[in-house]
Amino acid sequence: MQDSETVDQIDDTPIARAAQAAVQAIGRAGEGLPRPAATRVIVVANQKGGVGKTTTTVNMAASLAMHGLRVLVVDLDPQGNASTALGIDHHAEVPSIYDVLVEGKPLADVVQPVHDVEGLFCVPATIDLAGAEIELVSLVARESRLQRAIAAYEQPLDYILIDCPPSLGLLTVNALVAGQEVMIPIQCEYYALEGLGQLLRNVELVRAHLNPALHVSTILLTMYDARTRLAAQVAEEVRTHFQREVLSTAIPRSVRISEAPSYGQTVLTYDPGSTGALSYLEAARELALRAVGQSGSTVGQQRDGQPGHGAPMAQYGTTEGHQ
Ligand code: ADP
Ligand code: MG
Repeated sequence: MQDSETVDQIDDTPIARAAQAAVQAIGRAGEGLPRPAATRVIVVANQKGGVGKTTTTVNMAASLAMHGLRVLVVDLDPQGNASTALGIDHHAEVPSIYDVLVEGKPLADVVQPVHDVEGLFCVPATIDLAGAEIELVSLVARESRLQRAIAAYEQPLDYILIDCPPSLGLLTVNALVAGQEVMIPIQCEYYALEGLGQLLRNVELVRAHLNPALHVSTILLTMYDARTRLAAQVAEEVRTHFQREVLSTAIPRSVRISEAPSYGQTVLTYDPGSTGALSYLEAARELALRAVGQSGSTVGQQRDGQPGHGAPMAQYGTTEGHQ
């Protein structure tokens, strides 16, 4: 009697829970995930800054790679945060996505392996990219330069994740033309849905004119703080409007997630047993297990057959501009 009580108590300590999570995380990391029939090119976009685009890109990519898949991260933000988080040098002289977009260099010439994670690769961004938004304007096929570079890349890949800058300019348009899927991280806080209408309209424009395959396949709730009622309200609102697209795993607010980049690491290698690591592994598993083509081909469609398509756009389209 006393023994089992003691065991129960031990199991319930934070350290025991962390250890359990670590075992679970490591165990799951070893398991395979289905290899997509063709490379899934996923654009991680939201023109709001600080919502978790970069964090989601690098941690989802690392999670997929740790399941045995071959994954390329394309850093498309001049700040180069994804490059930093993956421990990839990106000072001004490093061959980068700028050379690909503006100079027409092959992607293969700028891809670098990520040290800690087998099967994970990165195309870094340097500060040069800050000028690309303007330089691209006068170039031929200015919207499809990334798409062409990816099409010409011959190494086999299961996933390409593109980390977009916090704007809807030509860099983001290049990403939207290059990808089939858009993943939108949404931070569970007030104003979370502002500007979403504008992003959805841009996706729609690119789909109509430049890339018929493009669709919002995935929405991920980030920095979820289970203690606040606001986070729960935002999550519920997003889930109501985007039933098919929202992953059931929400990423919790986690100090370990925010610390990892300063060590040039993803949370998956920095602290594999943390709840942050575990939640990204789960989110990546969900993403990988969603059959391509079934997942959210219609933006905002409601499960009960209500005309959901226009609803979120109409509702949130009016609140643009406040960021
Ligand atoms: P974006 O790329 O959209 O600008 P980031 O991924 O850079 O956003 O995230 C913004 C900030 O929030 C960063 O400092 C990052 O470390 C932190 N952050 C992101 N996700 C989490 C999380 N789940 N818990 C705690 N901090 C987070
Ligand atoms: Mg970023």
